[in-house]
Amino acid sequence: MVAVCLFQACFVFKEKAPLTKNSVNIEEFEEIEELPGLDDYGYVKNESVVKEAKVKRNESLYIILRSLDVTPEDIYTIQQKAIGKFNPRRINQNQKYYTYHDAETGTPTRMIFHQTATDYVIFDWSNGIEVETGSKEIETEIATAYGTIESSLYETLVGQGVNMLVANGLSEIFGWEIDFFRLYKGDKFKVIYEKRFVDGKPYGIGQIIAAEFEHRGQIYDAYFYESEEAYGYYDNLGNSVQKALLKAPFKYSQRISSNFSYNRFHPVLKRRMPHYGVDYAAPMGTPVISVGDGEIITSRYNGAAGNMVKIRHNSTYSTAYLHLNGYASGIKEGRRVKQGQVIGYVGKTGRVTGVHLHYNVYKNDRPVNPVKLVLPPSKGISEAELETYKVSIESKKSELEKLGKEESLAEVLN
Ligand SMILES: [Zn+2]
Repeated sequence: MVAVCLFQACFVFKEKAPLTKNSVNIEEFEEIEELPGLDDYGYVKNESVVKEAKVKRNESLYIILRSLDVTPEDIYTIQQKAIGKFNPRRINQNQKYYTYHDAETGTPTRMIFHQTATDYVIFDWSNGIEVETGSKEIETEIATAYGTIESSLYETLVGQGVNMLVANGLSEIFGWEIDFFRLYKGDKFKVIYEKRFVDGKPYGIGQIIAAEFEHRGQIYDAYFYESEEAYGYYDNLGNSVQKALLKAPFKYSQRISSNFSYNRFHPVLKRRMPHYGVDYAAPMGTPVISVGDGEIITSRYNGAAGNMVKIRHNSTYSTAYLHLNGYASGIKEGRRVKQGQVIGYVGKTGRVTGVHLHYNVYKNDRPVNPVKLVLPPSKGISEAELETYKVSIESKKSELEKLGKEESLAEVLN
């Protein structure tokens, strides 16, 4: 078995300017001294004893506050002041909260309730009644990872303790050009991304800043870039790395007769059920086109769906076209289709009341609303902005180049 060579390093960029708007310059960050004696929520540490507690079964805000000796009158005031800041119905069993107790008397003075890992509400009755919301800072650190694919990208990354979200991010960025279901042994990747922390604990990943993928000997690169006119990932020449899907599976616009809904009255079954697609009231025989390049994974009669075609565009997106009257020639499972290629014709096969096309978009195998789907832009960086763009990616490009260099040096020395 060939050894997996993957190293990941976590380092701080030496440049003065942050790489992206959201990233934190760690050097500056470290210069900010921690205020002496204050806790994570800004309270003087030795004034209170802080206890951690968990919501018990059937406990409400009222019950918790009563257990902290708050009077029913004060609870009423707290509830009034909490309107718009805290939804008492969102208290769940086992949810964590903190109670503050006067260090000398032990009297409860306030409670901090976390609504998410970062957002919290402070109920304070120590000196009058106050309800305040707050948010913990998400700290960001620039991290890098690189390696050679042995089996799958997930296994390679996760095996090295890199967040799985990095693999997701890479497949979303390069998924238009590289089929992540068919990576080759020996494919290589390099990535610069943001690691996030809340209270020093890992909190997902931020932006993937730059990445390179070598697939079957061909190198693809991508840099995140944001300006007034551009947003997304572009290669070193300024071409968009992502290609959009077409808005609808028709050459000419067609009327939508039924929208995506989680709870729709089904006209045939006469009961409420989700409708995970969009229905187009197109005339019988209207050509249906593929919204993107891809591979046909289904092309057959499928019960209630009737004649259906399902196309996988990349490892993130696939689409399905239902109730077709028939298929266009060459539309067979395993064949590839081009964006805009006719795949079939509108019909009324399967469980339907009339002629229409039912169209689905799946993102990571989950149906999403095709109408509301925000697709990555396909436009490249404009001529006018190209120079600015190229300058902006220079440092990232050289960081990517450096990745893995020490490893090959070590190999030479050994
Ligand atoms: Zn439908």
